[in-house]
Amino acid sequence: MKVVLQNLTKRYPNRNKKIREDVIAVNGFSFEIPSGKLIGLLGPSGCGKSTTLNLICGLETPTSGRIFFGDDDVTDLPPEHRGVGLVFQNYALYPHLTVRQNILFPLQNLKGDKKLSKEVMEQKALEAARLVQIEQLMERKPSEMSGGQQQRVAIARALVKMPRVLLLDEPLSNLDARLRLQTREEIRRIQRETGITTVFVTHDQEEAMSISDMIVVMKDGTVQQIGAPQTVYDDPTNLFVAKFLGTPAINVFEGEVKGGMLYIGEDAVLDVSPVSDQKVWVGVRPEGFVLSGEGKLHCAMRSVEVMGRDKSVVCAHPAMAVENIRAILSSEAQPDPHAETVCFDLKPQKVHLFHRENEQRIPFGEKAEG
Ligand code: ADP
Ligand code: MG
Repeated sequence: MKVVLQNLTKRYPNRNKKIREDVIAVNGFSFEIPSGKLIGLLGPSGCGKSTTLNLICGLETPTSGRIFFGDDDVTDLPPEHRGVGLVFQNYALYPHLTVRQNILFPLQNLKGDKKLSKEVMEQKALEAARLVQIEQLMERKPSEMSGGQQQRVAIARALVKMPRVLLLDEPLSNLDARLRLQTREEIRRIQRETGITTVFVTHDQEEAMSISDMIVVMKDGTVQQIGAPQTVYDDPTNLFVAKFLGTPAINVFEGEVKGGMLYIGEDAVLDVSPVSDQKVWVGVRPEGFVLSGEGKLHCAMRSVEVMGRDKSVVCAHPAMAVENIRAILSSEAQPDPHAETVCFDLKPQKVHLFHRENEQRIPFGEKAEG
């Protein structure tokens, strides 16, 4: 089931009564979510992720814009008639009911010609429980289970009616790190097996990048970029997106283009023609540094951190005044932690230029032509 968001906007009166202007929680959001895909809705707290999800499921009504499931305009349908499954951060299970009863609950509420026999309901509940691998826990109460198990029950309950669309709002935030990793893989598997179009909300870029077919990066209610995770990482549309994706974060320098050459401070580091002369922000991914005695970027060595698979060089440069630079090198590289300076060449595809004022990316080299 494809889901079409057409110029969705949601305004709220400001919670702070002294501020007269509305909060624009979601601002002109348009996107056609392809059928059967898992979409990661990503952005910092307050950027409008939950509001978007609540608009899709019908808990909120848009101020303007339309929502379609396939060819059905569902904008004015209440949530219970949209055929959506919902999972929230706090599992929201009924504490006095067993796992079986919790999963059965949405089926028992079906009315009229949708009403199911007891046997069919039991069968469907068992299938949903199997899908999330909790069928051996059917007689337990929520309090007798771990957070991860409770979240599986919540997912089973969302799936039992075979929704047209599955919506998950920060479903892993209450789990500890190990369970988070495991449960996100589970969600990916379940989504693949069922083929249900799914929107997964998170503020955690790694989580979104790892399981999504496509990610949508939001800021202040406005979509910044939509694309496959790797594409958005490799070709960020602006400085915000570049900084939001990737751990460790992208290194951002003050730079200047003069005669087609990019300068970081005094260092002439890269030919960036045909970019015209201007001051820029220079983003360099941690994996974009190549250790070299003749390297053009001259940094002050701070420390070398060895972490098994690779090494991090922590160093400083006057054009990156506030923070240290973090360069990730392969474990074979031999940076000298006692040297005063450390020099790098930069991999052009790992370097991004941004306008100083509007922070939009300025393509250079092949990307400028393409
Ligand atoms: P996220 O889920 O990305 O953290 P939300 O969608 O919850 O963000 O909120 C987006 C913005 O809308 C925030 O500024 C929030 O304070 C505001 N907001 C959300 N719900 C309401 C509401 N009911 N009334 C007023 N402002 C709201
Ligand atoms: Mg939220």
